[in-house]
Amino acid sequence: MLVDKHSTETLKRRDKQVYEIIEPARQRALSSEEYHRALPAELERADAEVYRLIGAEYDRQQNMLQLIAAENQCSRAVLAALGCAVQNKTTEGFVGARFHGGCAVVDRLEALAIDRARQAFGAKYANVQPHSGTSANQIVLAAILSSGDRILSLGMDQGGHVSHGDRVSFAGKFFQVEQYQVDRDSFLLDYEAIAQQARRFRPRLIICGASAYSRVIDFERFRAIADEVNAFLLADVSHISGLIIAGVHPSPVDYAHFTTTSTYKPGGPRGGLIVMGKDFDAPLLVGKREVPLWQRVEKTTFPGFQGTPYLNNIAAKAVFFGETLSDEYRDRQFRIVENAQALAAEFQGLGYDVLTGGTDNHMFLVDVTQFRNGLTGAIAQRSLEDCGIVINMNRLPYDRHCAKVTSGMRLGTPIVTRNGMGPAEMTTIAQRVDHVLANLEILDERTYRLDESLRQETADAVRDLCTRFPMR
Ligand SMILES: *Cc1c(COP(=O)(O)O)cnc(C)c1O
Repeated sequence: MLVDKHSTETLKRRDKQVYEIIEPARQRALSSEEYHRALPAELERADAEVYRLIGAEYDRQQNMLQLIAAENQCSRAVLAALGCAVQNKTTEGFVGARFHGGCAVVDRLEALAIDRARQAFGAKYANVQPHSGTSANQIVLAAILSSGDRILSLGMDQGGHVSHGDRVSFAGKFFQVEQYQVDRDSFLLDYEAIAQQARRFRPRLIICGASAYSRVIDFERFRAIADEVNAFLLADVSHISGLIIAGVHPSPVDYAHFTTTSTYKPGGPRGGLIVMGKDFDAPLLVGKREVPLWQRVEKTTFPGFQGTPYLNNIAAKAVFFGETLSDEYRDRQFRIVENAQALAAEFQGLGYDVLTGGTDNHMFLVDVTQFRNGLTGAIAQRSLEDCGIVINMNRLPYDRHCAKVTSGMRLGTPIVTRNGMGPAEMTTIAQRVDHVLANLEILDERTYRLDESLRQETADAVRDLCTRFPMR
């Protein structure tokens, strides 16, 4: 009970009448523990349909193989922080400088999230308020660019992200964007070509980081290119931020002016993050005034770009960044890469064309058109899903198929690793995938026929495998 015993006893002595009104109400008031523990039962009672669908989604996640490289699975502690009374708190501004009263507790939560994020990334500054990875990028763009300014970024069809200035995105609409490509033969970033393009294009911002690139990104080299043309560098490390925290991939934090990530891809709640390293207080000319970069980022976050922070998400980010400081989290990042390498090697052994010949991180791309005549990413995705294996089709660099068909599939190992699978299971997975793709009947770019006994046999085997590695 929140009301303390002592004061009710005092009340009982001093004013029996008031006490008799208050005491029954006090008995009904729930403690935080009682209130929050009752949440699932409350949902079941209030909305059986949504309750049932949540159950169905849980079952889908538990019983099918989750191999989408952009997905991860947060802890139950993170989930608990997401669904709690902190969600009801509204405010604007930052810790210690809010526009509403009642912020004593949420200030402590946000300060904790910031402190742990800085520790996780070895950063000087952290902003935990962006609602998503895309928002984090938009905030950085709006902080340092004026409309019409130039951005140089990796093309979306080359493994880049839509928020880096693709034509259909917000950034593509307000800035002049030129995109760099990966090398046509090796599919690797060609730093010399990027440097030449930067010298010619003179961007104000260079963006590095990708959604579908399986090799190490040389952030130091990117910074050298940016410095040469006097550009800012944004490293969007959404996909590999967990690996960076653990030291499995080199960190951009002190090379890039800004480092952004979504927080769900490394295994936290949905949301975004901006961190800054040694340039965090570099001066930026805004009008006639010089302001430190971090302050510009903060002002652009609020009131520039967003309104109220999602404080329950921020509580969940605090929990997640706390988890990233553990040995378990750090060891797991190494195992994610080991599993991705094992899985890629199995596919190669079965005759598949793995782009760049393997992977340095949590994911890789396979050119399925090289495996069988007529096979496409769309057929691979849909036929595998029929069998309980969830991957995604992905356009490959210089793909001749459109985005709805694609030549590639992208596979990632964060979730299977989280649930305890290792190299032996990677062998099984590759064999199962191969068995489906090798035996289906291809009708056209997007349709196929799958033998029902093959489908059933695979789905059963997948379910058994997943049962042995329950969701953590
Ligand atoms: C996933 C991703 C994002 C987007 O994050 P959201 O939180 O989904 O908006 C941004 N950049 C890269 C490189 C990504 O892979």
